[in-house]
Amino acid sequence: MRLKLTIRGAVQGVGFRPFVYRLANELELKGWVNNSSQGVFIEIEGRRGELEIFLLRVESEKPAHSFIQSMEAAWLDPVGFTGFEIRPSEKGGSKTALVLPDIATCPDCLREIFDPTDRRYQYPFTNCTHCGPRFSIIQSLPYDRANTSMKEFVMCPECQAEYDQPQNRRFHAQPNACPQCGPRLELWDPAGAPVAEVHSALARAAEAIRLGQIVAVKGIGGFHLMAAAQDEKVILLLRQRKHREEKPLALLFPDLKSIKAVCAVSPLEERLLRSPEAPIVLLKRRKNHPGNVAPTVAPGNPNLGVMLPSNPIHHLLMAALGFPVIATSANRSDEPICIDEREALQRLQGIADLFLVHNRPIVRHLDDSIVRVMLDREMILRRARGFAPLPIRVPGIPSAARSILAVGAQMKNTIACAMGNQVFLSQHIGDLGTEPANAAFRRVIQDFETLYEVKPEITVSDLHPEYLSTRFAETCPGKKISVQHHIAHVLSCMADNELSGPVLGVAWDGTGFGLDRTIWGSEFFLVTETEIQRAAHFRTFPLPGGETAVREPRRIALGLLYAMAGEEVFARKNLPLLGCFTPVELSTIRVMLARKLNSPVCCSAGRLFDAVASLINLLQHTHFEGQGAMKLEFALAGISTEDHYEMPLIHGGAALVLDWAPMIEAIIADVARGVSAGDISARFHNTLAEAIVAVARQVGQQRVVLSGGCFQNLYLAGRTVKRLREADFQPYWHQRLPPNDGGIALGQVMAALRPKG
Ligand code: ZN
Ligand code: ZN
Ligand code: FE
Repeated sequence: MRLKLTIRGAVQGVGFRPFVYRLANELELKGWVNNSSQGVFIEIEGRRGELEIFLLRVESEKPAHSFIQSMEAAWLDPVGFTGFEIRPSEKGGSKTALVLPDIATCPDCLREIFDPTDRRYQYPFTNCTHCGPRFSIIQSLPYDRANTSMKEFVMCPECQAEYDQPQNRRFHAQPNACPQCGPRLELWDPAGAPVAEVHSALARAAEAIRLGQIVAVKGIGGFHLMAAAQDEKVILLLRQRKHREEKPLALLFPDLKSIKAVCAVSPLEERLLRSPEAPIVLLKRRKNHPGNVAPTVAPGNPNLGVMLPSNPIHHLLMAALGFPVIATSANRSDEPICIDEREALQRLQGIADLFLVHNRPIVRHLDDSIVRVMLDREMILRRARGFAPLPIRVPGIPSAARSILAVGAQMKNTIACAMGNQVFLSQHIGDLGTEPANAAFRRVIQDFETLYEVKPEITVSDLHPEYLSTRFAETCPGKKISVQHHIAHVLSCMADNELSGPVLGVAWDGTGFGLDRTIWGSEFFLVTETEIQRAAHFRTFPLPGGETAVREPRRIALGLLYAMAGEEVFARKNLPLLGCFTPVELSTIRVMLARKLNSPVCCSAGRLFDAVASLINLLQHTHFEGQGAMKLEFALAGISTEDHYEMPLIHGGAALVLDWAPMIEAIIADVARGVSAGDISARFHNTLAEAIVAVARQVGQQRVVLSGGCFQNLYLAGRTVKRLREADFQPYWHQRLPPNDGGIALGQVMAALRPKG
């Protein structure tokens, strides 16, 4: 395999390249390292095990005076290097000013914060050139204090001296501050009246959390709602107030040791938790862990989303508490995270009991990033704090002659801006359905255009005419391109793996507007350098009630059965599904289906998951996208079977069709025979993996690219990759970009760069 690393930070002139050279030789790895104005680039090849050791040791054994602010890893196909060399530095090239992300507190600053003799003892805004806020405080480039939200704080003589002295760790540290001259904390009641300040604000906020209250905490990129993780009552209250019934909540832990008591942590996961990006990491929870995490934090979920403190406010709070807290983005469901204290008072009215705020304005919102280790590699599920707005460098990207803006999809929206051969990716924005999210979307686009001084000449959007991002694109000047949703998924995964055609692309998700104007979501494409052809998809079925069906898996299951048997389904004996409806509901749905009223046709893989979850009665109503698939994935935990159902491949039409009907009948029979939900789920997942192998055989492309939200499912991804490899195919999946719609914007850029545009 080949591992590509992009390392940014204090890595120049500190012996970093010789260190990499020695480490590579010791591990007998081949490749090269070089320097550029953008950081240190490493490409290295060898066996997987050695490469993983290399990855972990680069960080743990780096030269004394170096400091890593961001490290991006991508696993790629080997190219056959013969030795290891230090290549000459890249001079010139694109000199695009790089805006760094917000970086977790470094060990030196941390020591000062907890040293009673230090002048920054317990100071919640401590930072240095190695760490602290960047993207969340920059108003314009160049990155000077006068262009940040620190400009209103005049440095005291001591801070100024640090700032001016080249040997100092705070030489030109733009957010440099201390208790004398920098931002300060205050604790507010829900009316916005200050009730405490500085240390006592923090101490009283901690006390309130300890006593079972909900505190809104203004951090680096926005507000979090925090409450004691072991307190079942307060978590239920928060869920009620936030209208977030079942979606898992993220946890902030005091330290690694306390995480390890609750979750299993692999070396790669530990690296992520401690990395300068400090994301939320999805970890498997231990079976009988101590009772400091209430079940309602992530109901029925074998995983927990876990992070370590990434800024001094969180460090100080967690040190005062000593137990895990939930730390969820402060918003009402699906709205973007709050960044301003006055706005927070309004938007979090009735949710938070107290507000821990400070007087440094947050220039732009940044949610916590989410990462999971998938098949022994990191996979970013939400790209935000710590990653945004770093560009993705994709060699083979033809240098864009013109600047491109890609506006993404509707759910989990992000945008991308391409200039030259770099694609800058925005932070996670969210679901554009709410007005605040839509406003945030416009702000981020404006923001990128101002920050990088770019006037996009081409705007790329989704093919869906009703997406708010599409409607926005229509108002933009210049050339417009619309890209089919699942094609964008596949192109984004190809870029993530630095692949050009030909490949077989698989994009499975909940929904996307198809080229035939129906709802797609189980797409296979043959992608060559010049052409993209739809190669296969699932048999279609109606969704009685449209949007309502998306929230009611029982309706989807009924839609499948109706597609199979028509009216007869309503007379079917011993079908437990029919018992999930009232007679009135049934007759309404019957009319809808018969007259094709509000029953859009789809072939979505996500909806097939929902239907199966309904048939085995795991859930009949969903609270968030992908919940049915999650329940199915969790149900099969611990079950190992090679069994699968039949899913025949039907030839004859423009594309191959995978017929799920025999599988659905078999599942209904299994339910009747009392087969466990876990066993049925495992067989169902296995069937899907077999279906992908079958299509791959038929299409005959060696390289198979897996994208779309369905591939966040660890079992599905793992099984598919395994089966493809056994059948001599070469599978690829996401790493630096989310498989979900958060990766669409990059795919849109890639589409615009294709020869035919
Ligand atoms: Zn620092
Ligand atoms: Zn100062
Ligand atoms: Fe999608």
